[in-house]
Amino acid sequence: MVALRHHAEQRFTCQQCGRCCRRGWDIAVTAAEVDAYRKAGASEWFTETERTTETTSDPFEPIAGHAGHFRIRKRADGACGFLSDDNRCRIHERLGGQRKPLTCRLFPFRFHPVEGKAVLSASFSCPTIVASAGEPVSAQLKSLGSLYNEWARAFPEPSGTIEVAAGRPISAKTAAMLREVLRAMLDRPDPGGVPDLRANVGRMAALLDDLTRHRVLKLDPERFAEYVELTGRYAAGSDRPTAARRPSAVGRMLSRGFLFAVLAAREQLRAPKKGLRLGLRARLAGLLAHTHGLGPGVADIRLRRGRGVSLALDDPEAHRLVHHYLRAAVEDLGTGRRPIVDELALAVALLNASLAFAVMRVGEHGARGLDGPAVAEALVETMDLAHAEVDGAYGRVLITLAGGLDALWSFASSSPVPARAADAADPPPA
Ligand code: SF4
Repeated sequence: MVALRHHAEQRFTCQQCGRCCRRGWDIAVTAAEVDAYRKAGASEWFTETERTTETTSDPFEPIAGHAGHFRIRKRADGACGFLSDDNRCRIHERLGGQRKPLTCRLFPFRFHPVEGKAVLSASFSCPTIVASAGEPVSAQLKSLGSLYNEWARAFPEPSGTIEVAAGRPISAKTAAMLREVLRAMLDRPDPGGVPDLRANVGRMAALLDDLTRHRVLKLDPERFAEYVELTGRYAAGSDRPTAARRPSAVGRMLSRGFLFAVLAAREQLRAPKKGLRLGLRARLAGLLAHTHGLGPGVADIRLRRGRGVSLALDDPEAHRLVHHYLRAAVEDLGTGRRPIVDELALAVALLNASLAFAVMRVGEHGARGLDGPAVAEALVETMDLAHAEVDGAYGRVLITLAGGLDALWSFASSSPVPARAADAADPPPA
């Protein structure tokens, strides 16, 4: 059985909230699954619209560019057509849990084959992954290993190469060393015994800034590995504080674009799947102006309401959630999907966008500081974007907008809300 590298602290037991069935993502199914469902009469349990029993001829449609793969057609509200009114999967009800599509049995996990092994990552679009609740993932490796074998047969993916920066491959051993020093930095306690996550992410940014200097990246693999170990261990153990650095002007501008990309993706998922969608276009135009400080808020997005809300992670639950998210981001590094620096920058840019949402939400309720429920809700909502295909145009745009290590410096300097966006003219809360 393949060795699954995983985040050992992650817990998960599905709470059957049905969120993943409602997000409007493509639910990929294989030709064999489609054949079996058609033979079992699946079209009779499939509904086109919410709260009706109206059936259609075929619940499946081919995925363009992926021969032999299909997706389940969605209801008008974007949910899976097999979701019942009482939040249950009709395939599960009729055929049993083991006959559900592999994609659904796998969620919220994902496999990344890399260098003869596989990395198991978990989606923070699932509230249970965000909360890290239930059985330890370490105790589920046998069943996940079986799922991996099924997945590798159904959706074969070439093994990825680990790079620290674009065009600079590193060995799995060097990547493991880098994860180890980044984790040591992230978990480093302050004098009160609690990690100061912002200061610690600043330390991580400084180390990665150093490692991605042209002169260092040119070192041969052995010397680069030595450099990572020596400088990384020294930086992780040093008491010297990192000089605070503000994100660059370009980084701040890109962060506004990134926040718009998050909001646009959210609107796309919420919009009706059919018709001209003129309302969607108008909302996107409004959000573009709002995130650049040029217009009022749109619908429930009014960034100015987060003004004056403290970004300190003093609330223990808010701190725990952000710490857990960052630990998972570090443990997942080296999937072969993107270079390590890009992967971490994207993860932190998504966190920054989440915190922009969270301060807006707590501000709406008149609170002055972040709390656990607001952070959890914002993380779940923002992380839908992490599903963007790496090689797709959108995935590449996201990496550019993430702004590289500026995303880490933004987090470290407690400024994840783009300043001009927070200044946008906006009516006061109702
Ligand atoms: S979102 Fe997570 S907890 Fe909810 S049904 Fe899906 S996998 Fe289960």
